[in-house]
Amino acid sequence: MLETLRRLTQAVNDADSLDEALILIVAQVRAAMSTDVCTVYLHDKRSQKLVFRATEGLNLGKVGQFGLGFDEGLVGWVATREEPLNLEDASAHPQFQLVEDLGEELFSAFLGAPIVHQRDLLGVLVVQQGERRRFSEEEEAFLVTVSAQLAGLIAHAELAGAIGRASSPEAQPESVSSSAARLSGVAACSGIGIGVAAWVSPHADLQTVPSREAESRHAELAAFRQALAAVRADIQQVAENLQSELGPEDNALFGVYLNILDDSTLGGEVASLIKSGEWAQGALSQVMLRHIRHFERMEHSYLRERAVDVRDLGTRVLGYLQDASRQQIDYPAQTILVAEELTASTLGEIPRDRLAGIVSMRGSSNSHAAILARAMGIPAVVGVEDLPLRQMPDQTLVVDGYNGRIYVNPHADLLARFEALLAEDQALSAELAPLAQLPAATLDGEAIPLWVNTGVAADVQRAQEFGAEGVGLYRTEVSFLLRDRFPSEEEQRQLYREQLEAFHPLPVTMRTLDIGGDKSLPYFPIEESNPFLGWRGIRVTLDHPEIFLTQVRAMLRANEGLNNLRILLPMVTAMDEWRAAQELISRCHQEVLTEGCTSAYPPIGVMIEVPAAVYLAESLAEEADFLSVGSNDLTQYLLAVDRGNARVAGLYQSLHPAVLAALAHIVGAAHRQQKSVSLCGELAGDPLAVPLLVAMGFDQLSMNAGSLLVTKRVLSAFTRDDLDQLMTDVLSLRSAQEVTLALSSALSERGLESFIRRGGPV
Ligand code: PEP
Ligand code: MG
Repeated sequence: MLETLRRLTQAVNDADSLDEALILIVAQVRAAMSTDVCTVYLHDKRSQKLVFRATEGLNLGKVGQFGLGFDEGLVGWVATREEPLNLEDASAHPQFQLVEDLGEELFSAFLGAPIVHQRDLLGVLVVQQGERRRFSEEEEAFLVTVSAQLAGLIAHAELAGAIGRASSPEAQPESVSSSAARLSGVAACSGIGIGVAAWVSPHADLQTVPSREAESRHAELAAFRQALAAVRADIQQVAENLQSELGPEDNALFGVYLNILDDSTLGGEVASLIKSGEWAQGALSQVMLRHIRHFERMEHSYLRERAVDVRDLGTRVLGYLQDASRQQIDYPAQTILVAEELTASTLGEIPRDRLAGIVSMRGSSNSHAAILARAMGIPAVVGVEDLPLRQMPDQTLVVDGYNGRIYVNPHADLLARFEALLAEDQALSAELAPLAQLPAATLDGEAIPLWVNTGVAADVQRAQEFGAEGVGLYRTEVSFLLRDRFPSEEEQRQLYREQLEAFHPLPVTMRTLDIGGDKSLPYFPIEESNPFLGWRGIRVTLDHPEIFLTQVRAMLRANEGLNNLRILLPMVTAMDEWRAAQELISRCHQEVLTEGCTSAYPPIGVMIEVPAAVYLAESLAEEADFLSVGSNDLTQYLLAVDRGNARVAGLYQSLHPAVLAALAHIVGAAHRQQKSVSLCGELAGDPLAVPLLVAMGFDQLSMNAGSLLVTKRVLSAFTRDDLDQLMTDVLSLRSAQEVTLALSSALSERGLESFIRRGGPV
């Protein structure tokens, strides 16, 4: 069964259109279950009908010709109840209904399963058989499994189809339901981005290459030939390297392998597709995928394995083609970067002044790449699982980074609404600009230090522009992530020196290397089945003192003559981790002193980002110099919700009462020990949370530079008494929804409703 499922999903995945996918599904399910009929009905949201969309065994002439209401027939019954229906004799069921000319009268046995994707009913999958019999439990389980597996693929294919229709010139906007051209993901950086999609792939993937017309057939053909030659050379090199290991017979395999790309075979097909006007990457991907599908459908396992070879070869050629074309891409003035997975290097592909928005299939609002997007202040939506990558390039896109939505080829009205919002945002930024020079304070004049989180160079400039009063979190791992090896002590010293100097005499809190979880260095891969509970943060650096010592030495040496350095330790879960780290720092300090460096011993702080540290907060505060709450991780670990998983993003609620109780507890623990405590997670820059965090007593809030002015504006509308009252009210609430509502009303009452929409992704 698993093998059948695997082949079915692969085939559906490779299908070029929804119709092709549905035809494959009905054919393969009917064959796998040896039934007489297999049919798919799809839910059309506009007409609220279950449309007869594909069949094997019933009248093909009726495909697309009729739809059943939810109160009609057995299909309506399955759709309404969203559960399977297994009948020995369908006609005996009270809701049975015959559709004229469909040919159902020949079949007695009926088994239907709903197709549900993310709580949304997409349709019904039905098998039927002539003989009167009840389908076995195994058969029922199989159909339910197939339908669950196919749901995501159908949702994806439906969207791709809708986008394709919307982009064709003859299509009327009305022909696409507005919900179909709208995709949902996770808001990663607030703001509205409007532009033209450009797809950037960090690695070659045949599956995601769009079809596109060649600008010059001649040039595309030459590029293809060049890429082929490069792959041939690579493979010949591999064959030579293995010559002594393999006998002549085995080695001959490479010859066969290379022949796949000959002009007489696939190479020739690709070339003729290019000559007919397709660009090289598209032609290659189409030909290769067609052959892969063909091989994968073969019964004989040896031949099926050839699919792997064809995919490998195709991917290699594509890699060369993409390398060559990358250098010559001319991105539109307003580009929306579309990627499967957003990485630092894909971000760097598009010149900053042309980048208007970011959309990615994977990732969540707190994944590393999202943090980078926020640092650059580019509206971003990530975790758009149903993103049909192949259809996206050259489409007009609206990125709604406030609500985590994207709109593909929006019709004129919708586009005008977003253009107006964008203009409103720009006006608001202009209105807030004078606040940059003013310190943050409440309405009755109590000063609240706002610090900034940094990681990339752009942060420094923006932080200074908006009047940050210190750096609460310098994510040192960002510069590690952008390299292909660990930076040397001297390289690090220079980087850290630049940070310290840029903000001097304001304090700069440098966090020691925080890798693991979703931040893995390409040159130091960490393979784990459960990375967020694995080797990350201080655990890695204590196991590798050479990395830790080099970094701390670089920080201390950079601090010479400035003395505005603070060191922060990530992911501490136990007192002995804190003590071990402190001992190493103290050893480094002794060392650099002996070498003649006069750097003062810096304050050392601990991040509170796991539940264990919440309970140890007072002991940690007693021994450390300060605490800083990492609310991104703390929320993840308290609520047991993976911060990088878009599927559970709705459950990731930093305003959950459990998180708020932990925050209040940490502030109390730090203050009982007369130590300062800051908050440096995304929550610190969320306009809804700001009044509450200040009321709790956080000594500093450290946020992205882009949130500084909004935060100043929000704070200036509350007196200390207002804040205290708000906290008393909110801390007695029992759900994140109630908290959000109470905080939203507090903002609305003060005329700050526009900041609610502009709220950070919490
Ligand atoms: C946090 O966890 O809140 C934090 C600030 O650290 P990071 O997001 O880098 O894990
Ligand atoms: Mg963290």
